[in-house]
Amino acid sequence: MSEPLLFERSVTGRRGYRLPESKVPGVDAAALLRADHVRPAAPRLPELAEFDVVRHFTRLSQLNFSVDTHFYPLGSCTMKYNPKINDRVAALPGFASVHPLQPESHTQGTLAVLHELEERLIAITGMHAFTLQPAAGAQGELTGLKIIAAYHQRKRRNRSTILIPDSAHGTNPASAALSHFQVVQVASGPDGLIDLKDLRRKITKDVAGLMLTNPNTLGLFEREIRTITALLHEIDALVYMDGANMNALLGVARPGDMGIDVLQLNLHKTFSTPHGGGGPGAGPVGVTKALETFLPLPRVVRSGKRFRWQSSAKASVGRVHGFYGNVGVLVRAAVYIRSLGSDGLRRASRVAIINANYLKARLAGTFPVAYPQHPMHEFVITLKSLRSKGLSAMDVAKRLLDYGFYAPTVSFPLIVPEALMIEPTETEPKEILDEFAEAMIAIAKEAETDPEMVRRAPHRLPVRRIDEVKAAREPDLRWPGASPTEGSRQTEGSRPRSDTG
Ligand SMILES: *Cc1c(COP(=O)(O)O)cnc(C)c1O
Repeated sequence: MSEPLLFERSVTGRRGYRLPESKVPGVDAAALLRADHVRPAAPRLPELAEFDVVRHFTRLSQLNFSVDTHFYPLGSCTMKYNPKINDRVAALPGFASVHPLQPESHTQGTLAVLHELEERLIAITGMHAFTLQPAAGAQGELTGLKIIAAYHQRKRRNRSTILIPDSAHGTNPASAALSHFQVVQVASGPDGLIDLKDLRRKITKDVAGLMLTNPNTLGLFEREIRTITALLHEIDALVYMDGANMNALLGVARPGDMGIDVLQLNLHKTFSTPHGGGGPGAGPVGVTKALETFLPLPRVVRSGKRFRWQSSAKASVGRVHGFYGNVGVLVRAAVYIRSLGSDGLRRASRVAIINANYLKARLAGTFPVAYPQHPMHEFVITLKSLRSKGLSAMDVAKRLLDYGFYAPTVSFPLIVPEALMIEPTETEPKEILDEFAEAMIAIAKEAETDPEMVRRAPHRLPVRRIDEVKAAREPDLRWPGASPTEGSRQTEGSRPRSDTG
């Protein structure tokens, strides 16, 4: 299963295509270019036939875990099956080939779809208005925090603190810090929900807002959400909701009704766009009426039957994306919402919740569930007891790969030791949930009888344990035999072995 690099497959003189001999006399390119634009030597590229390249990349693609090939119960980052109709529609030339600088009269169809998507998101969330610009959940957070800052600035007051519960997603404190806010942590109570006493203590005149994830990263719905938002509104602070977990709430509860002032949705999660590997996303931000004036520009507005771009508004926080966000992702989400309809969306969330609770019940006899009361679409188990065998949650996650399942989120949320966060989503049938539960139970038995087997997993994949931090911090992209000046600062002989990254 080990796949060599293309450079290792290179054969001198081999070519993908050869053009017929030209009858036109040739000119040396170097004679036509400025001397400092000419390389001293030709770049060392692999020399291959088309066939070598196709086999190589096809084989690499088959090593992937994906939602189309495997159960992918990744907690916090909804990975559901994405119906192919979404891609078919987004690929229609009328959507895929428009250019953002075409005149409005040429792009009325796309503008109508974007406008309709905003209206549907408004209906789903109960917010007053949306921007579709942000390209990811985290960018939506940044946009929302800029709106909160602009709100307080306009009231000419200095509010420098954002309160964030310890059950919030990790991007929340990161986004607040990036937006130059001080982050003050709010504790969770023994039930895994925001500790209201601690919250009351931390609400001071300095607080610009509260940023919470609901359902939180334990998969729990904040039952006192109306009290929480009212407490912040008493001092004219705003409440930001990280809506990436909206897969639990479609047609069940609306953030707008909870007193939320700003939220982002992760269309690439809840509304079914293929994502992962850093692929394109969309993190639309919804706001209340009082905050609409701060939304990024341009916005799509309707005048009668026509749609146009609105490009100026005094209070806007400005542009957060070139043109108008990742339109392909937006079209996919619009198709998903239309094809399910309001009944279908409600059913999707209900089944997501039932699937999570079924899996929780199947696993609870073997693994302690952290905060087991009423999880929504995901739940967290703790593998703390495996520490006595010298095993960690990571070891169990790696062993699951051998069983043909993508691993759940590991070591998160931080408030649960040796956490595995499991989100099955609504698209999985009962048989798959059962197979996964049986694999987990089998691994628990192995941990008793053969802990080495678990510690050294995975056994069946081409790559074993990789040093992810080293791969990110010291990427070695140099090809064998290149001189140090040729595109890399790495020293000779440091190309990673295939089992280390
Ligand atoms: C995924 C996720 C985010 C970040 O979204 P990106 O699109 O990855 O930037 C934020 N909050 C929660 C709860 C998430 O699950």
